Amino acid sequence: MKRYPLYIDGKWTESKNGSTFEVLNPATGEVVGETADASEEDVKEAVEAAHRAFPEWSARPAKERAEVLHRVYESMLKHRDELAECMTLEQGKPLAEARGEVQYAADFIEWYAEEAKRVYGETIPASASHKRIWVLKQPVGVVAAITPWNFPAAMITRKVAPALAAGCTVVVKPAAQTPLTAGMLMELFEEAGLPAGTFNLITGTRPKEIGDALLGDTRVQKLTFTGSTEVGKLLMKQAADTVKRVSLELGGHAPFLIFEDADLETAAREVAASKFRNAGQTCVCTNRIYVHERIREPFAKQLADHVRQLKVGNGMEEGVEIGPLIDDRALEKVEHHVRDAVEKGAQVVTGGKRLDLPGGCYYEPTVLTGATEDMLVQQEETFGPVAPIQSFQTEKEALHKANSTPYGLAAYLYTRDLSRAIRVSEGLEYGIVGVNDGKPSAAQAPFGGFKESGLGREGGKYGIEEFLETKYVSVALT
Ligand code: NAD
Repeated sequence: MKRYPLYIDGKWTESKNGSTFEVLNPATGEVVGETADASEEDVKEAVEAAHRAFPEWSARPAKERAEVLHRVYESMLKHRDELAECMTLEQGKPLAEARGEVQYAADFIEWYAEEAKRVYGETIPASASHKRIWVLKQPVGVVAAITPWNFPAAMITRKVAPALAAGCTVVVKPAAQTPLTAGMLMELFEEAGLPAGTFNLITGTRPKEIGDALLGDTRVQKLTFTGSTEVGKLLMKQAADTVKRVSLELGGHAPFLIFEDADLETAAREVAASKFRNAGQTCVCTNRIYVHERIREPFAKQLADHVRQLKVGNGMEEGVEIGPLIDDRALEKVEHHVRDAVEKGAQVVTGGKRLDLPGGCYYEPTVLTGATEDMLVQQEETFGPVAPIQSFQTEKEALHKANSTPYGLAAYLYTRDLSRAIRVSEGLEYGIVGVNDGKPSAAQAPFGGFKESGLGREGGKYGIEEFLETKYVSVALT
């Protein structure tokens, strides 16, 4: 049992009203921890602390900020197993995946420790000989970071690392389902010697109250949010009142295009890996599979063969590849999507129902064929282990179907034809395209969406830009 209070101004502190909430294991329904349940007052205090800490932290040489981040990186790797276990217990993903997430999360810390030292300005040739034009990059100020439950560690480090590297201070609000991993991470940042107020952690069950307090505060200069498109739109509207900078990493509805010349065996394996990772609860998860009609049947068979071998269960058990869904609501959404698809003519090749395992919210990994545009599985994120297959005849048709959605986060294509790979990847209206690659995410690459999948980029040299202002200084020599 883990227990975390809030972390404000360098101190672990109970919420002002003394309330707490329990954290449940989605694999068993058991209580695995407890954290403080923050109120508006706590948020105000955290923002105040971040605001106070900003001048000192932003004035520190980048090298010193980098040293703190390097220490966090080292200790994340040292505590990889404990972090992974904590994540599996509160979120459900299999332990091996959780370990992979710790590495991925730590990679952002390491990358931005280095990137802190490469925040360059510019000089621009002026039009008059007595003038100089300088462009400076400066941290935006206090950052509010709101994160989802599906990647409890990486969604925090992907925001906090570039923010701290840039010289900003932060108030983080993780999802109520997964506050314990956030608490553990906070401990590691504290041990690494981060000054008081630089990184504050607010956990709570009233997201609107916390969100209103963060967004209504003029001392918060920037919102960085990862979560659903629905909540992202709401926060963007709220941010407009005080013209806060916003970065939004929102929902996806990734298409996976498999052309007739693809290596079927590899494509089926990659689709399975991309679709069923984290039980299908990943923003870049394949959601719609478009297969050339000539290879539809052999592909569906290969995919179903892979999927039938996937072991579902409690992520703490050896060999389990798919854990539970996060909660009953998620399970009901998956059931609703599959029922809707079947009623509209889809065929279940494998799976298609709840799994009767004790305690948790399990759904059989499912492959559907005969998917059509009018089905919910083709229209919105299922966020579950369901792989709907639809066929196409021409490249143009495949591209049109792939782009026919308000979302634009990740898309994938499999082909051995280089010209087609270039044409299609250029035509896809998506921020991330995997060509013969089902796992494109990397700390050094830009991650983010087109259209309603978001604004801005995380990762790589692009990620730190989101936390920097551009200042133009014009100097006239006298
Ligand atoms: P969500 O939008 O319900 O919640 C995300 C966060 O926002 C949580 O911390 C939640 O407590 C908070 N929140 C909810 N309502 C709020 C409000 N009114 N004011 C302030 N905060 C509020 O999303 P979720 O269910 O936690 O996560 C799943 C979603 O996240 C999916 O849509 C997924 O695609 C998306 N996601 C996107 C990315 C990406 O990089 N684009 C990565 C991971 C997840």
